[in-house]
Amino acid sequence: MHGVDDIDTIGVVGAGTMGHGISQVAAVNGYEVVMRDIEQELVDEGIAGIEDSLSRFVEKDEMDQQAADAARERITGTTDLDALADCEFVVEAVVENMDVKQDVFADLDEVTPAETVLATNTSTLSITSIASATDRPGRVVGLHFMNPVPLMEGVELVVGEKTDPEVVDLAHELADSMGKTTWESDDKPGFVTNRILMPWLAEGIRAFDEGVASKADIDQGMTLGTNVPMGPLTLADHIGLDICLDAMETLHTELGDRYQPPYLLKRKVEAGDLGKKSGRGFYEYEE
Ligand code: NAD
Repeated sequence: MHGVDDIDTIGVVGAGTMGHGISQVAAVNGYEVVMRDIEQELVDEGIAGIEDSLSRFVEKDEMDQQAADAARERITGTTDLDALADCEFVVEAVVENMDVKQDVFADLDEVTPAETVLATNTSTLSITSIASATDRPGRVVGLHFMNPVPLMEGVELVVGEKTDPEVVDLAHELADSMGKTTWESDDKPGFVTNRILMPWLAEGIRAFDEGVASKADIDQGMTLGTNVPMGPLTLADHIGLDICLDAMETLHTELGDRYQPPYLLKRKVEAGDLGKKSGRGFYEYEE
């Protein structure tokens, strides 16, 4: 069994919003990182996102140039699955789709040593179902980083039916070594955060669609009225409307009608208005 001190190299599967954020934070905290996506262009975009974020930390005097350069050098981008073979710990951050995640976990089970812990960054899907695609369900755990990963302190640690207690301890220690603070959730739909957050976002979207108030007034009402940093429509745009819809659909399937996603959210996703990342969601964003 690896202890956290035995972990040198962390694999990250997916170089998107979360994958490149997790890679950056792991590298800044001294780990070698192998970040894998399916196409070189996506790997390159992930690396560019990391370089951009590191340079912003330097500009704000929150990191020195040497530390940023050293972190960048620890990250290897690849499309080659076999490049993950030497990782002691892998975090999966591919699209929120059970079939895709199970395929990725079956592949990881083949290419990594039996000791390697396989973590998933899923927001809502069952850790136990994902783990069932492997021959090592005891070594599969949920490690749900928050967006944007370099700025958000919290990580939700999700314990599957078969997750070994020593793997839970290791995952806590690893998150801790990356400067994060964890809380634990059982493997129930949406865990703690999204089970509570998604209906809040959905109600904000419905309130707008049903003409309760303007977008700005709904967001301002919630920020000034309840002391949260972002209102529901702004936060949904930041998360990505497609990501919100996936999460709400999983919760709806698992927990029933009180989790039904709003029509307006479906229409926006169908129109390609995915939030901040596509330049338009409930609000417009400049490139
Ligand atoms: P994203 O769409 O930005 O990135 C996903 C990446 O995975 C894409 O680049 C895609 O090409 C890649 N990918 C797909 N199949 C792959 C495979 N077989 N091998 C390697 N790469 C593959 O998505 P995201 O927002 O980074 O979300 C990733 C995961 O993190 C999801 O499970 C999501 O629910 C979760 N999550 C997202 C947020 C958020 O705010 N966006 C927050 C917490 C957790």
